[in-house]
Amino acid sequence: MKNRVLIIGAGGVGSVVAHKCALNSEVFEDIILASRTISKCDNIAQSIKDRFDIDIQTRTIDADSVDDLITLINELKPKLVLNVALPYQDLTIMDACIATKVDYLDTANYEHPDTAKFEYKEQWARDKAFKDAGIMALLGSGFDPGVTNLFCAYAQKHYFDKIETIDIMDCNDGDHGYAFATNFNPEINLREVSANGRYWENGKWCETKPMEIMEVWNYPEVGERDSYLLYHEEMESLIKHIKGLKRIRFFMTFSKSYLTHMRCLENVGMLGIKEVEHKGQKIVPMEFLATLLPDPASLGERTTGKTNIGIIATGIKDGVKKRIYIYQVKQHEDCYAEVGSQGVSYTTGVPAMIGAKMMINGTWRDKGVFNIEEFDPDIFMEELNKNGLPWSIKELVV
Ligand code: NDP
Repeated sequence: MKNRVLIIGAGGVGSVVAHKCALNSEVFEDIILASRTISKCDNIAQSIKDRFDIDIQTRTIDADSVDDLITLINELKPKLVLNVALPYQDLTIMDACIATKVDYLDTANYEHPDTAKFEYKEQWARDKAFKDAGIMALLGSGFDPGVTNLFCAYAQKHYFDKIETIDIMDCNDGDHGYAFATNFNPEINLREVSANGRYWENGKWCETKPMEIMEVWNYPEVGERDSYLLYHEEMESLIKHIKGLKRIRFFMTFSKSYLTHMRCLENVGMLGIKEVEHKGQKIVPMEFLATLLPDPASLGERTTGKTNIGIIATGIKDGVKKRIYIYQVKQHEDCYAEVGSQGVSYTTGVPAMIGAKMMINGTWRDKGVFNIEEFDPDIFMEELNKNGLPWSIKELVV
């Protein structure tokens, strides 16, 4: 039987995943892209046909319905379901995979639509069900979470006896020419950015006000940028899996203009996630805002500049204190030229494809629910170099 993959979600990331799977057709012999809106799937299929002369199939699916998912998976019998819909669909898709005994992969941890709090708890709770079904789930195989976790695992394996601190540094220096737009799903992005910050130190979480802590970091090939402390989901799994860690923080760059727009939208209530009544109709302000903002999948053509995402780890090797920086730089225009997408979708979609490849070809194989840093990073790191995301390592002064 052919290696068939079912990709769910035809947004910015789904498009990159589908294109990159097509470019790795020796592993992904049969590709099916399913989403709520079939026209989006068909447009992506056409782009793949035009660029690479490869046919993929498309389907429609409501991934909020476990029953519909089970029916589709049973009909298609894929080797793996690759979830790049929204974090709200993680649990339904995982449950459908358990019922049909098919492997699962995603790039973002579960978030309930009514509570702006993303966490692994409910996904990790399905570990036994995955084990009992004899299948594997790989969580967070995007860039961050994803590659940043692997950079930590790689640093741990090759550079340290013990890592003491990690700072994850995420810079998107792209310019799309709009006054305000988000580079991935607006709702998920704005919920993440407007929430309180959090970092982990000496065994406990420390909370900050949104954007309360700022540091200036000099990103290679980009320059000095203001970087703000946020809570980000990979920290939840890294504190479990990097033993001896004393502190982990996550920083992301924002322009002054982005922050001013965001504060203004927040002040007038447009980031609200509870229903409000408008002329007899119930609307969720954040959902309405997402309707008004540019579709992230449409930004590719207009975006110029680079992304630079990496980790700075300090720790001890052979009794000596060390500090290293592992990072990846990507030019937005190169992503557009290759697969018609901007860099944020690209840097997420490529590791999702590689994670799926590692599972399908058996390089990473186990039963249960896993975060990416639990596996040996070396082959995945080589695959990044081969598939458009070459990375660099620098020793820094301690
Ligand atoms: P988009 O909003 O562009 O795309 C999401 C897609 O999911 C859309 O095509 C949408 O449907 C589809 N979808 C939503 N709800 C359903 C549903 N109920 N049933 C079926 N399909 C549905 O988002 P992105 O592509 O930007 O992001 C995709 C995922 O990637 C998100 O989970 C995001 O959090 C994650 N991400 C991870 C990153 C990382 O580094 N780890 C970075 C960036 C994003 P429709 O077909 O109607 O359009």
